[in-house]
Amino acid sequence: MEKNERIELAELLFPNIKKTRNYYENLYPERDLPDGAMVTRFGPSPTGFVHMGSLFSAFIDSVFAKQSHGKFFLRIEDTDQKRSVENGTEGIFNDLNAFNIVPDESEIVGGKYGPYIQSERTEIYQTYVKDLIIQGLAYPCFMSEEEIAQIREEQEINKTKLGIYGHYAVDRDLSFDEIKERLSNNQEYVIRLKSPGNSSNTIEIVDCIKGKMKFPEHDMDTVLLKKDGTPTYHFAHAIDDHLMHTTHVIRGDEWVSSLPLHIQLFDILGFKLPQYAHVAPITKKEDGTIRKLSKRKDPEAKVSYYEEVGIPIDAVKLYLATILNSNFEEWYLNNSEKNIDDFTFSFDKMAIGGTLFDLDKLNNISKTYFSRKSGEDVYGETLAYTEKFDPDYHKLLVDNKDDMIKFLSIEKDGERPRKDIAKYSDVKEEFSYAIDNMFEKENYSKYDGTKIYDVNLIKEYLEELDLTSTNDEWFAGIKKFAIDHGYAASPKEFKKNPEEFKGHVGDLCEALRVMITGRTKSPDLFSIMKILGKDKINNRVELYKKFSNQ
Ligand code: GLU
Repeated sequence: MEKNERIELAELLFPNIKKTRNYYENLYPERDLPDGAMVTRFGPSPTGFVHMGSLFSAFIDSVFAKQSHGKFFLRIEDTDQKRSVENGTEGIFNDLNAFNIVPDESEIVGGKYGPYIQSERTEIYQTYVKDLIIQGLAYPCFMSEEEIAQIREEQEINKTKLGIYGHYAVDRDLSFDEIKERLSNNQEYVIRLKSPGNSSNTIEIVDCIKGKMKFPEHDMDTVLLKKDGTPTYHFAHAIDDHLMHTTHVIRGDEWVSSLPLHIQLFDILGFKLPQYAHVAPITKKEDGTIRKLSKRKDPEAKVSYYEEVGIPIDAVKLYLATILNSNFEEWYLNNSEKNIDDFTFSFDKMAIGGTLFDLDKLNNISKTYFSRKSGEDVYGETLAYTEKFDPDYHKLLVDNKDDMIKFLSIEKDGERPRKDIAKYSDVKEEFSYAIDNMFEKENYSKYDGTKIYDVNLIKEYLEELDLTSTNDEWFAGIKKFAIDHGYAASPKEFKKNPEEFKGHVGDLCEALRVMITGRTKSPDLFSIMKILGKDKINNRVELYKKFSNQ
């Protein structure tokens, strides 16, 4: 087809497109950002919620943009009707908000490079397609679905590459008259790329995560605009990431196989290729096999799960940081004052294969996170959580505020703060002894009762207990009491001559601990006793007496 025919064809196909490429190039100028600033984007389909794998991508986008003083924007990719649900965009905004992953630009906060929703950019895509038609790099293809299915069948039988290319691209060289005739018969069409590639050529690209990759050149006449005039993912990606000046396309590695097409699109459109970073999927180990984290099978794949079970969002983000960069965790453990924003992330510390999502590991990170919070903060956050998810306990927390903060503040100072809380709901469980009427109800349900302790001996000890003494004095006191009553001063001494003793001082402390807290392990016992006070301690010993039938 001659150029003048192509111009005529472009007008015929897109009579309403009056703008030009130049118009958009001028409308969306280069961003004014410092050297090295990264522009990243998150492009979810409006499916109603963000899957953990996508959230991980969005997290990476935001982290890299922030640390390089760049920009991170959110673009809703709603060109695939099958993946869109009603109000699906709202769910995406909610989930991102819940994780405090806040884009610098989006449909909601605005920005100079919008619209940030693909269904509102149709005119832009069509303008560029119109130009490709004029250049002879795209054409209308009238093949029916049946014809395409037939070609596929033939290709499968012949075991040749599937797709529309070479002689299978039957509409590639239709004459202008032929096209005009089909259009006048209202025959449906898509717009296909007239691929200039040759699959015996090799192309090379360096992915920020996966490193150097080689592919055969793309040679398919891929669809650019669908029958309804909306773009395919591939075409929209090239146009949007060019006009929005994305520097780094960070996306799931299911897109790696489309790279040759994308490279070709950027090339024929005359756009500078962004850098690509293909992120390995988040996986889960189950019965010895590793599979992708699934929104159907795994509750933890939904971001709302964390709010419900009460794992703080910041702890989940810390976990995402540990799976993002292999050197983050050690850094975090060694820097008790620092946070995610203080760490410099890099692509070369990212996993190339799947990234295992491990809830135990998340719990551990969360415990460290909680251990660095003051008792007062843990109290306040637990209060907010229980208000929504455990109203009965919430009331108890409100009524016992002062004591509860004191309990939550035990063993917070020093090199190795207490690490027993991974989620807000653990507070109820771990501090079951803290609130008197809760203890009275549950008392020794957490103690297995295998050992029965001597109530009278403990009562005798309590007579001399002085709650105003220091920790050292307290321990010296109980030690002396133990020795005077036939206990060894240490486990070592006891082990040497077990028949000579009733036990060792630790056993006496255990007896006291079980009677007072209902458990064999607790934070510092003397601190607990000081908060409870003599009366409550004595009441609990009476409770234990009944429990153990003494
Ligand atoms: N809309 C695409 C998806 O949901 C985005 C992929 C990309 O980030 O380029 O998979």
